[in-house]
Amino acid sequence: MLAETKLLSLSKSKFLFNNIILLRNISISTANNAKDNYKLVVVGGGGAGLNISSRFVRKLGKTNVAIIEPSEWHLYQPGWTLAAGGVKNPDSFRRPQSKLIPSGVDWIKAKASVFEPESNSITLDNGEKVKYDYLVMATGIRIDFDGVKGLKEAMANDEQVVSMYSHETVKNVFPAIQRYKGGNAIFTFPKVPIKCPGAPQKVMYLAEDYFRKNGVRDKGDVYYCTTIPAIFGVKKYAEALMEVVKKREIKLNTLTHLIEIDYKNKQAVFEKLDKPGTTFRLDYSLLHVCPPMKPFDEIKNSPLVDETGYVDLDKYTLQHKKYPNVFGIGDCTNLPTSKTAAAIAAESSILATNLGNLIKGKNPSEAKYDGYTSCPLITGYGKTILAEFDYDGKPLETFPINQGKERRTMFHLKSDFMPILYWTAFVRGYWGGPGIYRKILNIFSFGKN
Ligand SMILES: Cc1cc2nc3c(=O)[nH]c(=O)nc-3n(C[C@H](O)[C@H](O)[C@H](O)COP(=O)(O)OP(=O)(O)OC[C@H]3O[C@@H](n4cnc5c(N)ncnc54)[C@H](O)[C@@H]3O)c2cc1C
Repeated sequence: MLAETKLLSLSKSKFLFNNIILLRNISISTANNAKDNYKLVVVGGGGAGLNISSRFVRKLGKTNVAIIEPSEWHLYQPGWTLAAGGVKNPDSFRRPQSKLIPSGVDWIKAKASVFEPESNSITLDNGEKVKYDYLVMATGIRIDFDGVKGLKEAMANDEQVVSMYSHETVKNVFPAIQRYKGGNAIFTFPKVPIKCPGAPQKVMYLAEDYFRKNGVRDKGDVYYCTTIPAIFGVKKYAEALMEVVKKREIKLNTLTHLIEIDYKNKQAVFEKLDKPGTTFRLDYSLLHVCPPMKPFDEIKNSPLVDETGYVDLDKYTLQHKKYPNVFGIGDCTNLPTSKTAAAIAAESSILATNLGNLIKGKNPSEAKYDGYTSCPLITGYGKTILAEFDYDGKPLETFPINQGKERRTMFHLKSDFMPILYWTAFVRGYWGGPGIYRKILNIFSFGKN
């Protein structure tokens, strides 16, 4: 009887919950009846866009903020490494945008095609125009599967050529790792910039660990082929990772650029960047490719970008260099830091202060971004080095312990805690990075580095 009552109240609350979600959806689904002018328009509904629109709808009130975002789904991309390693189901990292766009924000379900910042106007791909007083650019970066000759054909025809870099393809990675029975397992890193520069090696460490645990590690070689001159861009963590690479007998090829995949002969073709024009081929029995990444064409062709195609910002204030009522955040910007969700969290509090000030007629340069970014470098099942650093590559570690060591606690932080933090606080604009906790916790750290 008690169980039945509990079940009944559970299904009642589920019913109520579903209907609240439904009501909430109706209030935000204003796709084709957008207002002519918004106080603030945010372009892009990734982590950066959701965080910022959540913060500003609380400041500016309902119907004053709009998000322009064409996609039905929001993707928690930091989870793809865990999905590739078979730790989590990729579907758990995807949620409908309708459930994430903050209440009170108008969702303009379209793509922003033409930007006219001189007249504060954006033309959508359906031909409609949206005007704004203030604009935040948060359009992310495009993963270019056409950027390596033969990659798409290889992925379609050879189940051992895989890439975790989309919701559709990440699910193929772990089965390919499981099928590996020997030969060369190759993991590639393209030319920069890419989002989360640690990710291409995280999947490699998980695969290598899996091979070891399943008795096939001695049946072949594991290669990491990267275009940069070192395993990682920050000295402290590069040294720690080199220890891992040596201990695990991983073959590191630096300044090595994947240019073509010849799946019919099961070979990857590389160019040596220190010897232009020199190429070589490597046989593979597993090939994981991190494709090159680019700004989206609509952004690259807009007046908002620098010569590289990224939104041109003051690196400290996040305000546009030419258009003072425009700010930017996240992967689409030219901020010279690693493109990560962790960086976005820290950027979001700076942007909220400075844009908030500008709207109130106060100083838009009050808060200064130090380039904080973070990369939880998974080095195996249950092992992670938590890299955190600033614009100068100086470690900015949150915990009062040496984060350059492989730790199980950091693995659980990455795999269990961070997804919860993302869905409950980050996309709702309640997480602005660990700066305050770092200050408190590091009172207790003495000479840890
Ligand atoms: C495999 C992998 C592992 C990662 N691991 C980590 C990690 O461990 N830790 C970490 O902090 N970060 C990690 N990252 C990086 C992190 O996921 C990204 O930095 C972050 O998601 C970028 O958010 P964003 O909002 O800038 O861009 P996105 O999430 O890409 O969102 C951009 C949005 O803009 C929309 N858009 C694009 N063009 C237009 C347009 N013209 N008009 C309207 N909308 C548009 C897109 O549809 C998209 O929804 C990882 C990334 C990957 C791929």
